[in-house]
Amino acid sequence: MKTQSFWSDEGCCLACGRSGVALHHLKSRGSGGSNLEHNLMPVCWGHHTEVHTIGLQQFSIKYPQVEDWLFKNGWEYDPYLEKWTHELE
Ligand SMILES: [Zn+2]
Ligand SMILES: [Zn+2]
Repeated sequence: MKTQSFWSDEGCCLACGRSGVALHHLKSRGSGGSNLEHNLMPVCWGHHTEVHTIGLQQFSIKYPQVEDWLFKNGWEYDPYLEKWTHELE
């Protein structure tokens, strides 16, 4: 299993490809979200602000590669709940 430190400057922003990223908790720590890799989305500071502003659903529509990343990491979009869900979260 790949390991990834919480503060990574090796990753690239999923939205714009810029290096030096913040790891966004898809399920927030406050809601009991984990520090596992699938719950940590690498984004630059600008896009980190954006995902918090517009929400993950709009973010994944705006940036199709984000949606690909979510599916690859085990997330599924629930059209009834209108949110992304993960079996471990
Ligand atoms: Zn970015
Ligand atoms: Zn965040």
